[in-house]
Amino acid sequence: MSVYLQLAQAMFPHITKTPEDYEAQYPPRSLPDGARVTRIAPSPTGYLHLGTFFTSMVNRLTADASQGVFFFRLEDTDKKREVEGGADDILKGMKDFGLTIDEGFVAPGEIIGSYGPYQQSQRAEIYQAYVKLLVAENKAYPCFCTEEERQSARDAQEASKERTGYYGKYAVCRNLSPDEALQRITAGESYVVRLRSEGNEANRVKFDDMIKGTIEMPENDEDIVLLKSDGIPTYHFAHAVDDHLMRTTHVIRGDEWISSVPKHLQLFKTLGFKPPKYAHVSPIMVEENGNKRKLSKRKDPQAAMHFYAQQGYPALSVLEYLLTIANSDFEEWRRTNPTAPYNAFKFNLKKMSVSGALFDLDKLNDVSKTVIARMTATEVAQQVLHWADEYHPAFAALLRRDTAYTEGIFSIDRGNAKPRKDIARWSDVPDYVSYFFDELYDNALELPDNISPADAAAILRAYAAIYDPSEDKQAWFDSVKSICAPLGFSPDVKEYKKNPDNFKGHVGDISTVIRIAVTGRRMTPDLCSIMQQLGTDKVQERLNTAISVYENNI
Ligand code: GLU
Repeated sequence: MSVYLQLAQAMFPHITKTPEDYEAQYPPRSLPDGARVTRIAPSPTGYLHLGTFFTSMVNRLTADASQGVFFFRLEDTDKKREVEGGADDILKGMKDFGLTIDEGFVAPGEIIGSYGPYQQSQRAEIYQAYVKLLVAENKAYPCFCTEEERQSARDAQEASKERTGYYGKYAVCRNLSPDEALQRITAGESYVVRLRSEGNEANRVKFDDMIKGTIEMPENDEDIVLLKSDGIPTYHFAHAVDDHLMRTTHVIRGDEWISSVPKHLQLFKTLGFKPPKYAHVSPIMVEENGNKRKLSKRKDPQAAMHFYAQQGYPALSVLEYLLTIANSDFEEWRRTNPTAPYNAFKFNLKKMSVSGALFDLDKLNDVSKTVIARMTATEVAQQVLHWADEYHPAFAALLRRDTAYTEGIFSIDRGNAKPRKDIARWSDVPDYVSYFFDELYDNALELPDNISPADAAAILRAYAAIYDPSEDKQAWFDSVKSICAPLGFSPDVKEYKKNPDNFKGHVGDISTVIRIAVTGRRMTPDLCSIMQQLGTDKVQERLNTAISVYENNI
């Protein structure tokens, strides 16, 4: 037995499976030609971040555009940074915001697929089998340097203005003889396992990033750690083994990983794996004091997906907004295909922006208004209820009291060629519909400056006398016009504008007074529909209340 094999055996006596076994266990996938296998591989270190969600969406769309697979792997090797429930929060957020996962963790507590385990903490033996082979081939070695030794090496490097890292003359254990290493291991000394790097700082590696284009960087000459002293891999090594065995074709991730690509390519090469294609997504930016900076988990509430849930943005609004960031031609496509499902859009990884797009809440609100305007009344009612159940239970109870009434409210000015675009998020709705519920209704009956309480009382008395709840929109408007002239108002806005001195106001003022009496607002959706929805008794009650309030103010 070669001395390296002996060393490998002493380091991993419990590892009996070989890389060959794993190759056989996880064969290449049988998918259509050109199918892309993508993944999101978050660490459970906190809540779901907009950036992670965005990258997931890009992965999902890339898989979809090629009849591929999008899977979820949990990178939970850093137990110190792990947050309890973090993984479930990420998975729940993905689901709530409409991103389906094909394989791996698909929902909290739900795992499917035959390329697992999909959780790195459960893959220790797999990683060790690969490291065992690398040690046997003298491509990796045990390193016994203590933390203190490493620190003093780093201090020396900094003092002499050299690159920090375990390379060249600083890679002390690289030169230990296998016999010595074997002895120290047998003696029970603690160690990490390092790659024996073949790289040279003076050489360049070149790769084509599908978003950023061709990138050139120095080769990696550091003997990076593959396994930590507890036998758990570093991220770099785990990524290479996992993405190979899970047969990932495209690694699409945040661009903070670009600088690691030379290490990753080196690992793929050393392990004899075909490297995946890389696409590095630029971060979402915000503007602050005229400067662009990355959206920050700490500073920006909108960095957390919880923000969108709590504000009640529909999943589709968030997805469509993010699509406008992802591919700038999405908006044009949406204009020409207003009713197509969003994923009918031909997403193109290569059209993603190289510098980070700016986050714009106003734009999200605009997109969301259009998304909500396209929904049916039933969909709106369902989604509002879903939001209110979690964030506004008292409002949910009001909506549930009479579901037909609730749906009726959301039917107003909806389902026609030009639906109103005035709801951006479900948290707008309690105020938006307040005049339909006495519990939320508070009417100060405030009049515009040009209308006196005496005129308002006269207008409402005249209207109350002819109010006919069976009127359709046209008849309703004709009725409103019919009371104008006797009250000194013009039924015709143009006529009024020609001779304003001849009138107290015009038909618009008359309907404003009625609108204020019935809803408390100067602007609402179609008033005739609102009155029908409120019902005769309620309308009469509100007209009478307003009449007496204005009469008392004369
Ligand atoms: N666990 C890494 C992260 O959370 C994954 C990076 C990758 O996608 O390769 O950022």
